[in-house]
Amino acid sequence: MTKTVTKSTPEELEMIRSSVRALCERFPESYWRETDEKKAYPEEFIKALTEEGWLSVLIPEEYGGAGLGMLEAGVILEEINRSGGNAGAGHAQMYTMGAVLRHGNEEQKQRYLPKIASGETRLQAFGITEPTAGSDTTSITTTAVRKGDKYIVNGQKIWISRTEHSDLMLLLARTTPKDQVKKKTDGLSLFLLDMKDQKDNLTIRPIDTMINHATTEVFFENTEIPVENLIGEEGKGFKYVLSGMNAERILIASESIGDGKYFVDRSVQYANEREVFNRAIGQNQGVQFPIAQSYMDIEASKLMRDKAAEMFDEGENCGAEANMAKYLASEATWKAANAAMTTYGGYGFATEYNIERKFREARLFIVAPVTNNLVVSYMAQHVLGLPRSF
Ligand SMILES: Cc1cc2nc3c(=O)[nH]c(=O)nc-3n(C[C@H](O)[C@H](O)[C@H](O)COP(=O)(O)OP(=O)(O)OC[C@H]3O[C@@H](n4cnc5c(N)ncnc54)[C@H](O)[C@@H]3O)c2cc1C
Repeated sequence: MTKTVTKSTPEELEMIRSSVRALCERFPESYWRETDEKKAYPEEFIKALTEEGWLSVLIPEEYGGAGLGMLEAGVILEEINRSGGNAGAGHAQMYTMGAVLRHGNEEQKQRYLPKIASGETRLQAFGITEPTAGSDTTSITTTAVRKGDKYIVNGQKIWISRTEHSDLMLLLARTTPKDQVKKKTDGLSLFLLDMKDQKDNLTIRPIDTMINHATTEVFFENTEIPVENLIGEEGKGFKYVLSGMNAERILIASESIGDGKYFVDRSVQYANEREVFNRAIGQNQGVQFPIAQSYMDIEASKLMRDKAAEMFDEGENCGAEANMAKYLASEATWKAANAAMTTYGGYGFATEYNIERKFREARLFIVAPVTNNLVVSYMAQHVLGLPRSF
């Protein structure tokens, strides 16, 4: 892959941080608490991010974006989560288009990227997971069968987030049955499904979850996709998805780092202010050590995120680094989340203090977009050369 991004100077990176912080100040924690309570989509926040161009930074300038790199994109998401917000409502608009950018043809890029950059078209849904396949993506059973100039899709997806707030879905489906391909990763194809005007051929059902994430089940019944919406070559979709997954993992690591910094910031503040036994609770090593330990872990995971982002932008294979960044950041942040709960004592449970909401949100990154067990297994098998366990 050729290098296409402009690398920011440290000053420019700092400017990105401070501009995103300024935007986030318009959306205080009370805003996020309310959207969480109502399980509402933070429409106003996404509109503000879109208007200021933050969701289109990864799109090259020739297609209407800023042409920035993965580190800059990561910093944006990190600052959103550090402010007490939740970038999950908009992160997919930033990176899902990477499949079109890296593997689409010029006509598809011209058709979609400028509209995604302006926010006129929302590509917020990424449809991979299925109820029976789970983490074993090559076992998905949703099929796309070519009939003339269309593909007819049948099957079911689960945990597909933001479908109700998106015009398009990037969809992975099987185009050749598993028993007719040499490798199980062959025969899967990637499509851009236009979800408008699908009527009864597409059913979307919200799933009630412990966090506000607008996630859904999606049922396809003879859903039609025009042939021109196939991304790249038929049967090569799994390979295309993998390259996008590295970007997703680097960005999820960034959100997680933002959450981790939030927990550390809040814990330090509260531990300095709260007095019990006539002294600040932060004076007790039982309170200060877990905060300091998680701070060190978060800083270390940030270095791995920075390395993975730089490699991605240089067009190098960053599979190991992207996975390590996601793993290290989510584990460090989970430690910080627990340290914050310890620091806040009973008040950690009160919604008014926001810690419990962020605690629930931070837990997601250990599970999605890939579970940490699967990351460890990837490292063991593909990086260290240990025997395959599945
Ligand atoms: C809020 C939310 C939003 C999501 N959004 C999306 C989305 O937009 N699009 C999308 O496609 N998916 C999405 N997902 C799905 C997510 O990627 C999956 O939940 C995740 O990949 C795990 O799959 P699973 O839930 O089926 O778990 P399973 O695969 O059933 O695994 C269950 C447990 O078993 C462990 N396990 C399984 N096999 C092994 C093994 N061989 N070795 C060790 N441990 C193993 C796993 O690590 C896990 O802990 C979302 C999930 C959630 C919760």
